[in-house]
Amino acid sequence: MEAFSKVFKLIADYTSDLLCIHDAENTIRFATKSSEVILGYSKDKILGKKLTDFLSEDFIKEMDFTTLIRFFDHPGARIRYQINHGDGRLRWLETTFNSIGDDPQKDYSVLSSTRDITESVSLTQDLRQALSKEQELSRFKSNLYSVASHEFKTPLAVIQANIELLRIKRSEKVLENAMSSIEEEVDRLNSMIGDMLELKKLTTGETTFRPESFFIEELVEEVLENDIHKTFPKISISRKKRGKKIPIHGDPTLIRFVVANLLSNACKFSVRSNSVEIVIDYSIEEVRFAVSDKGIGIAKGEQEAIFNSFYRGKNAGNIQGTGVGLAIVKEFVDLHKGRIELSSTLGKGSTFVISLPV
Ligand code: ADP
Repeated sequence: MEAFSKVFKLIADYTSDLLCIHDAENTIRFATKSSEVILGYSKDKILGKKLTDFLSEDFIKEMDFTTLIRFFDHPGARIRYQINHGDGRLRWLETTFNSIGDDPQKDYSVLSSTRDITESVSLTQDLRQALSKEQELSRFKSNLYSVASHEFKTPLAVIQANIELLRIKRSEKVLENAMSSIEEEVDRLNSMIGDMLELKKLTTGETTFRPESFFIEELVEEVLENDIHKTFPKISISRKKRGKKIPIHGDPTLIRFVVANLLSNACKFSVRSNSVEIVIDYSIEEVRFAVSDKGIGIAKGEQEAIFNSFYRGKNAGNIQGTGVGLAIVKEFVDLHKGRIELSSTLGKGSTFVISLPV
């Protein structure tokens, strides 16, 4: 018997797992020395406590506490949980409970064995994150190939057709028409490739955010002059301003993309009408930039999905596009801690509003 108690003492003193004996209420009645390493408290400090007393606030918030307690009460269970370690750090533990048998006083009801699994939990989390990033990238690549093969074909076919035409006929008029048509398609290809590269940068975390002070009003004028009026000469665009002009603090390159995309969508999807309206609203906290068109509109059921990359509305039909612009717009607005709102009626038109904090 003496030899046995010596062996028992050796185990109690040298086990690296924390062994505890709990009463019927789950209160710790005995603990090994290793509680200092596993929980960060000496064994005397944890006597009279329960393992649930050490749970981290975040873990309690995420779990349903009553369900959780039931697990701690359940002999045979093996559970993983996060604790506030005595040294101030958060640690992950895994505990196995075993019923000890019939003790008339119920002082020794359950034996628990606990080990620190923080390293393996964080390794699993890292692996999971890496895996989901990898899956996202692979989905992105396969979407990219299908969009590229579909959407890039049309402008290339137009360019090819114009070249064929020039081979047959080379009058001044044909040459002029062919050149402007080729130029238009090259611009379109360039902007599609630009969108793709921007999305790739976002997906791989390469997007840079360089904030500075600038006026959105001036940026809008620049986009209209250099891009929109050239690409959509038939669309008339009206501007309204409300409030006193104030600058925003953001990245002008990213906001330029947002403005250009919303304006070019408004013009592109205005098939029957040729008027687009811009309203810039200044208030103390934010600048709102709204673009309204009287175009094809977006079905209610699709108004969320159009912000997903590669999604195109069912009514977008032959109107060219890749479905990536709005996904980028949303990410860029999020980077500025702004909001994007959409109101649209199918067949009647759409209004996109972005609000950026000043
Ligand atoms: P793209 O214009 O290249 O298709 P976007 O991501 O910019 O890609 O837009 C996604 C989809 O949202 C479009 O294909 C279209 O169905 C819808 N959409 C965006 N803007 C408008 C608009 N102003 N009017 C109607 N539909 C729009």
